[in-house]
Amino acid sequence: MLKHPGMKYYNINNHREKVSFRQSVLQGAASGKGLYFPERIPAFTREELVGMKGLDLPDLAARVLYDFVGDDFTPAGLSEICREAFNFPIPLVEVEDRVYGLELYHGPSLAFKDVGARFLSEVLKRFSGELNGQITVLVATSGDTGSAVAQSFLNVEGIRVVLLYPSGKVSKLQEKTLTAVKGNVQALEVEGSFDDCQRLVKQAFADEDLASRMTLTSANSINVGRFLPQSVYYFWAWSQLDHKEQEDLIISVPSGNYGNLSAGLMAWKMGLPVKKFVASSNINRVVPDYLETGKYQPRQAVATLSNAMDVGDPSNFVRITEIFDHDHNAITEHVRYYVVGDDQTRQAIAEISSEKGYVLDPHGAVGYLGCKAHLEPGQTGIFLETAHPAKFYQTVEECIGDRITIPGDLQNVLNREKNSRLMKADYSEFKELLLRRSR
Ligand SMILES: *Cc1c(COP(=O)(O)O)cnc(C)c1O
Repeated sequence: MLKHPGMKYYNINNHREKVSFRQSVLQGAASGKGLYFPERIPAFTREELVGMKGLDLPDLAARVLYDFVGDDFTPAGLSEICREAFNFPIPLVEVEDRVYGLELYHGPSLAFKDVGARFLSEVLKRFSGELNGQITVLVATSGDTGSAVAQSFLNVEGIRVVLLYPSGKVSKLQEKTLTAVKGNVQALEVEGSFDDCQRLVKQAFADEDLASRMTLTSANSINVGRFLPQSVYYFWAWSQLDHKEQEDLIISVPSGNYGNLSAGLMAWKMGLPVKKFVASSNINRVVPDYLETGKYQPRQAVATLSNAMDVGDPSNFVRITEIFDHDHNAITEHVRYYVVGDDQTRQAIAEISSEKGYVLDPHGAVGYLGCKAHLEPGQTGIFLETAHPAKFYQTVEECIGDRITIPGDLQNVLNREKNSRLMKADYSEFKELLLRRSR
């Protein structure tokens, strides 16, 4: 693949607004709540794809991401970032004949968001070294994003992280992974809902006075620094298959905010031969309904067992339509959907455990069912396993009728002290807090 000089990112809401990779990462979102999108999607030839087979994960990552970082990193610089970021395994596990689970949960917070969060933290670390001052990363979280960001950014020099989470509305285990960290990571327990947290963060980004006094960015999946590295593991999974399996492959993605699926579609756009993607969803079916009817109608999310997918207005949806040039027919040709209720999720966890000896988490179970629903004879299916079953041990143990082992790291976190600051859902209080701690 030829390196194009200076890849730029445009605002999906205003194509004339273009910035470098560096600026898009430092800004998080574009103006008017727009998302950044690469102006060109590089394509790999067949030979180049086949050549990925012998690479280890960090080298493969550097090859996939090479064109996207523009002039902001040298090849050696990018390789170093990928070595640091992709430092945990992503195994492709055969669950049954021609059905594989891609285990994305072996990172520090035991969920797939570690991939994006680790890459973003390595990138921001280097950018902060070039700036005269600190970068403040703001995250509103209902659980999983905050844990991944807290773990990935812990003790990263030049970066301060402020996490906002709704008091009493995240699980005990999630709260511990959010608040058992100290130093440069500060957890704010907001007396309000997740939407209140998100509102406060959005207000901070829109505050010009604040922008003039500090460098603020977002670690939510709208940031291209979190979104792009997620394309890597689609190539990685493909490169693990044999030739015949590679030829007729479908991939099922358990989805909530649709960053993961958009990243898979980017990989396909880059030339990865995937026959079909499945948008596997719990009953929060805004995107399945769009695929069915062509109409996008956001609504209030409802609570399910796969709670990291309880999203009523997925922020990355616009990236999917952008990839397909807003052509609904083209989208439905490549993206199918499957909607799963909680009973079905429970049943799948129980059955796959007893019949195949493989333990799914509720999100992976949704992915598995979507994969099975669309797999045709002779095809190979991959579903993404996005969280370690131990993160949802109550549900999982109930389904499989057995205990599961909680990994040592998580066990340690559970024993640590909660370290958060209670705060009203009030912007002036929040702003004061942000300014007080900055230099
Ligand atoms: C965030 C999350 C998802 C949904 O991913 P999106 O990119 O938001 O679609 C699925 N599973 C788990 C465990 C998650 O944490």
